[in-house]
Amino acid sequence: MSEAPPPPYRWFDLHVLRTERVSPSLVRVTFGGDHLGEMVTGGRDQRFKLFLPRPGQDAPVLPDDLGVGWYAQWRVQDPAVRAVMRSYTVRELRHDPHELDVDFVQHGRPGEGTGHSGPASEWSRTARPGDRVAILGPTAEENGGVDFQPPAGTDWVLVTADESALPAAAGILGWLPAGTPAKVFLEVAHPDDVTDLPTAADADITWLIRGPGAAPTLDAVRAARLPAGTPYAWIAGESGTVRALRRHLVGDRGFDRRAVTFTGYWRRGATEEDLLAELG
Ligand SMILES: Cc1cc2nc3c(=O)[nH]c(=O)nc-3n(C[C@H](O)[C@H](O)[C@H](O)COP(=O)(O)OP(=O)(O)OC[C@H]3O[C@@H](n4cnc5c(N)ncnc54)[C@H](O)[C@@H]3O)c2cc1C
Repeated sequence: MSEAPPPPYRWFDLHVLRTERVSPSLVRVTFGGDHLGEMVTGGRDQRFKLFLPRPGQDAPVLPDDLGVGWYAQWRVQDPAVRAVMRSYTVRELRHDPHELDVDFVQHGRPGEGTGHSGPASEWSRTARPGDRVAILGPTAEENGGVDFQPPAGTDWVLVTADESALPAAAGILGWLPAGTPAKVFLEVAHPDDVTDLPTAADADITWLIRGPGAAPTLDAVRAARLPAGTPYAWIAGESGTVRALRRHLVGDRGFDRRAVTFTGYWRRGATEEDLLAELG
C-alpha cells in the first residue's frame, strides 16, 4: 500500500476551468477539482509543484506510488513520458466555489517576452477547459512552502521580482500588514504587464520595463534611496539577477545576509530539469 505524502501536502487531480490572457506576458489558468476544497494556502509566495501532460497525453503520467518516495520514482520514469514537473505560485485560491488561479509567464514567444519557450509556458498558452493536470499542494497554512518570512524587528521590506515572481509579489503585497513600509521593484517585459496590486502596506512600487542591455532591477536598486531602519529583503526572478542583487544588498548596502531571502525562479539557458539535475 502506498504511504501518503508528508503532511501537510496532498496530490490533487485538477482540470482547467478557464484561461485568461491577463497581460502580454501572463496567462491566468483557473483550475477546479473534486478535492480542491482541502487545499490551503499560507499566502505570500506560496509555491507548489505542478505536473503537466506531454503533448499527445490526456493526463500527466505520475509515478505508481504517490507516497513519500514519489520523487525518486518520478526521476527514474522515462523522461519522454513522465509528467513535466514545474514550480508555480498560488496566485489566488478561492473556496466558494473551489478555484485555483495560476499565472504563467509566456516566455520565448516572438514579441511576447524574453528567453526560450518551455513545456509549461507552451501548455498554458494552449490550455483548454477540461485539460487535466496534477499538483502536489498544501493542506495547512504552515507548510514550508512560503519563503517570505520577515524576522521580528523588521522595520521595512524590500521586494524585487520579474514577471515569473509577480504572482508571489502580489501575494506578499496582499499579505503585508497595514502601514508596513515596502520598497518594491517589479520588472516586466511590456508596459501593459503593469497592473494594480492591492495592498494595505505603505508600498512604494517601481515598475521597470525590460529592454535590451543591463538588468533594470539591479540598476534601479543600486540607484535607490532606501529607508532607514532594519530591512528584510525578498528577491526572486532570473537566477543571475537574483544573485547580483543579493551581492549588492549584502556586500554594498550592509544587509544582514540572514535577512535576505533570495530564490532563482528560472535560469537563462536552463530548463527546470537542468536545475533539478544539478541538485543531484
Ligand atoms: C518557487 C517558484 C515559484 C514560481 N512561480 C511561478 C509562477 O507563478 N508563474 C510563472 O510563470 N513562473 C513561476 N516560476 C518559474 C517557473 O517555474 C520557470 O519559469 C519554469 O522554468 C517554467 O517552465 P517551462 O517549462 O515554461 O520552461 P523550462 O523548460 O523550464 O525552460 C525552457 C527555457 O525557457 C527559459 N525560461 C524559463 N522561464 C523563463 C521566464 N520566466 N522568462 C524567460 N525565459 C524563461 C529557460 O531559461 C530555458 O531556456 C516559479 C519558480 C519557482 C522556483
